[in-house]
Amino acid sequence: MFITFEGGEGCGKTTQLTLLGDGLEKRGHRVVRTREPGGTHLGRSLRGLLLDARSAITPTAELLLYTADRAEHLARVVRPALAAGAVVLCDRFCDSTVAYQGYGRGLDLGLIEQLNAIAAGGLRPDLTFWLKLDPPVGLARRLAGNGNTPDRIEAETLAFHRRVHAGFAALASRYPERIRSVDAAQSAEATAEQIRSVVDGFLNE
Ligand code: C5P
Ligand code: MG
Repeated sequence: MFITFEGGEGCGKTTQLTLLGDGLEKRGHRVVRTREPGGTHLGRSLRGLLLDARSAITPTAELLLYTADRAEHLARVVRPALAAGAVVLCDRFCDSTVAYQGYGRGLDLGLIEQLNAIAAGGLRPDLTFWLKLDPPVGLARRLAGNGNTPDRIEAETLAFHRRVHAGFAALASRYPERIRSVDAAQSAEATAEQIRSVVDGFLNE
């Protein structure tokens, strides 16, 4: 089973992924936790370049780097783990590229779909949680959590982060069977409980 976590800055994806993984492991599932960008050796270097506030990267180069990270990650981590029967929990996936490079940067959505198809080879998550949070709230959380040093993307304008949010909203209404919106403004425990019950329902189907 392949589950992805999506959302804007400071929405708590990483916390939720960890909590869900712990719960699944307690119940005997083999869990692989991973992330994009940065789930492979190549990906860790790409992540460093992509998030370095000193990097100047054109939108098209940025799109190609995120999708290069994805191609490597799918081939080396996600597909082998799924083939071995693990539950794969992934922090960001193709939807982030639509939201950030498509809605945020304004790149062509058809082109992004093609590149995502090449990178992911048609693999789709079984479930995606969109941790929905008002962008100013998430940015404030994130900056409070990392000593007020924004990375290259966090340093973007509020208007950029609002477009990204609109991108996730558009995806959630386009793929309601796959993407579940979860209110990330509530406590981490309440969010985790909501996610757990959706996953349990899915596993018991
Ligand atoms: O999830 P996390 O915040 O660790 O992700 C790393 C960063 O990469 C985020 O700040 C996110 O904004 C950015 N990103 C992006 N485009 C993607 C995926 C991630 O701009 N396709
Ligand atoms: Mg971030």
